[in-house]
Amino acid sequence: MHETGIAAEILDIAEREAARRGAAGIAAVTVRVGDLSGVVAEALSFAFEALCAGTAAAGARLHVERVAVRARCPHCRRESQPGADLVLWCPDCGQPLDVIAGQELQVESLELREAV
Ligand SMILES: [Zn+2]
Repeated sequence: MHETGIAAEILDIAEREAARRGAAGIAAVTVRVGDLSGVVAEALSFAFEALCAGTAAAGARLHVERVAVRARCPHCRRESQPGADLVLWCPDCGQPLDVIAGQELQVESLELREAV
């Protein structure tokens, strides 16, 4: 499953950052997931929770922020938000659009547990 590999990467990033900051554990991780990334948020959360068991991130919550697809026309610079049909043609001049948002898959922030 695609999401398991991604969840493992997210956990890896979170664990390295927690170690770097000397934190006792990880309470929550926020990720930005573009609508074009092909990631199913529910599957990602499920995989993440399963991987966290027994690690410093045990019980950590995964917040998934969806990023809507946005596109820009390279010709007239008009920006648009393609609908579910993902028509990637400029409504004004018919040029193929450049996708400028919606493909991201990144760790946005971490909530760490302080060492006591
Ligand atoms: Zn245009």
